[in-house]
Amino acid sequence: MSTIIIIGAGIAGLAAGCYARMNGYEVCIYEQQVTPGGLCTAWQREGFTFDGCLSGVVGCAPGKEMSHLWQELGGLSGQLLPQPEIISAYHSADGTRTFSLPWALPQLEEEMGRLSPSDRGTIREILTAVHSLMHFSDTIEAFDTGGFARRLRLATRLGAYMRFVRTWEKVTLTELGQRFRDPFLRRAFTHTRGDSALSHLFLLARQAQRNVGQPRGGSATFSQAIAARYRGLGGKLHLGKSVEKVIVEGGRAVGVRLAGGSEERADEVVSAADGHATLYGMLAGRPLERSLEYHYKRWPPSPALVQVSFGLRLDLVGQPPIETWELKEPIQLGADRLSRLNLRHYGQDSSLAPPGCCVAVVRFASDIRPWVTLRQEGAAGYRAAKEEITARVIALLEERLPSLRDSIEALDVATPLTWERITGCWNGAAGGWLPTTQNGDFSGVEAIPHKVPGLGTFWMTGQWVTPGGGVAAVAQDARRVIQRLCKEDNRPFQTRKEGEREQ
Ligand SMILES: Cc1cc2nc3c(=O)[nH]c(=O)nc-3n(C[C@H](O)[C@H](O)[C@H](O)COP(=O)(O)OP(=O)(O)OC[C@H]3O[C@@H](n4cnc5c(N)ncnc54)[C@H](O)[C@@H]3O)c2cc1C
Repeated sequence: MSTIIIIGAGIAGLAAGCYARMNGYEVCIYEQQVTPGGLCTAWQREGFTFDGCLSGVVGCAPGKEMSHLWQELGGLSGQLLPQPEIISAYHSADGTRTFSLPWALPQLEEEMGRLSPSDRGTIREILTAVHSLMHFSDTIEAFDTGGFARRLRLATRLGAYMRFVRTWEKVTLTELGQRFRDPFLRRAFTHTRGDSALSHLFLLARQAQRNVGQPRGGSATFSQAIAARYRGLGGKLHLGKSVEKVIVEGGRAVGVRLAGGSEERADEVVSAADGHATLYGMLAGRPLERSLEYHYKRWPPSPALVQVSFGLRLDLVGQPPIETWELKEPIQLGADRLSRLNLRHYGQDSSLAPPGCCVAVVRFASDIRPWVTLRQEGAAGYRAAKEEITARVIALLEERLPSLRDSIEALDVATPLTWERITGCWNGAAGGWLPTTQNGDFSGVEAIPHKVPGLGTFWMTGQWVTPGGGVAAVAQDARRVIQRLCKEDNRPFQTRKEGEREQ
């Protein structure tokens, strides 16, 4: 039986492990942490579960794009929270204007038209694009899950999709935003992460299809369910085992060396760990192909983050789960400048907090370098910086939620160093590559190859080969890697839904 070593038990590594097991490979995952899940994680404080990741998972609507992933991998198992009608609200600094983002497209059109009647043309253009993507995403799902004959039948529709992609893929979100006459709507529409219009339109399409949901129990429960699926399929998971080096012999990856010096061998090695650590650490000494090097020099990684988490004795269920407030003036928060305040609450998930309470988090982009300096100078300065940030964030929130201060039951601050410690992510860039018009993978062409040139038995998967990341995207990417491996090995690629028996 062919053997595979997978480095990293984040969602990509676990998914690769599951698909490899479904196809009869013997699989060992080595994970440096003592729990699986990677970035898809949460932590406990004083009876509260502070979620460090998921606001929404793509693939929650049966039959819709990427839903096959969770049927095959587990993860959701029917445990979805009810979807609120309003996904998020964006407020102007003077408090006079709010853009409430609904799931449903007629309401979205109405809301944008209400905010700026003179922008009806741009609004129609956007909604037409979103409608097309909803239609195409069904085709993509059918294509991903279908056999050869079905794929052939879908070829015409796929051609239309490719033409659509070519029209949109080089449009930045900023450029699309500039088409609005109303400056508030422009800011409210484009404040999202990354600058690819198409990836933003995709998100709106998936939301409109109600194909983005929130798993009950949050990120850790989700990850543990996929780890359980992997183990149930007979995969071996070694936790607390850090890979230091990929062993290369005769131009082939033949195994890994673990911290402590022991060596493990396999026919294939898949890295689902941080891309930079893989190429510049585990494969150090190998000349890097120029195009790969180019990405690591030129593409913008996602910003590192600070997350202030609150355990609150408050009922926020009626409020939009995500609220963003523009600030009158940008403020200096530690080393970072903040022009908006973003609060995400998990009030709908009673499993994360004691009765009558809820969890809420404020996240903002933060440069890792000052945090590294603080760490070098000692624990006291690092702690003081976290305390200062917490006090400032509470003061900012209190202006918007006056009862917040008195309702705080638990607090926690995660810094870029926390994300770096959890997964070894490059400079704390927990979200992988920012989605831009340079790196989109909309036409199915790999933005970054799964194989390192010249190393036939070595594969890479996960958010560093899937710009924009996201648990569904990386699970899909891992599925493709195993599909390709099966093709190379002349095996038919097989999948099994959870609960289905082996043929
Ligand atoms: C704050 C935040 C919010 C997010 N919100 C969402 C959301 O709402 N919806 C969504 O879909 N996605 C979201 N994401 C993105 C999503 O979490 C990631 O894209 C996805 O989890 C990445 O999975 P991965 O397996 O590629 O990488 P990772 O999760 O980084 O996994 C890599 C694994 O490799 C391990 N590893 C690293 N080096 C080694 C080594 N040397 N030896 C052994 N193991 C090693 C790490 O410990 C880790 O477990 C969010 C991310 C963040 C940070």
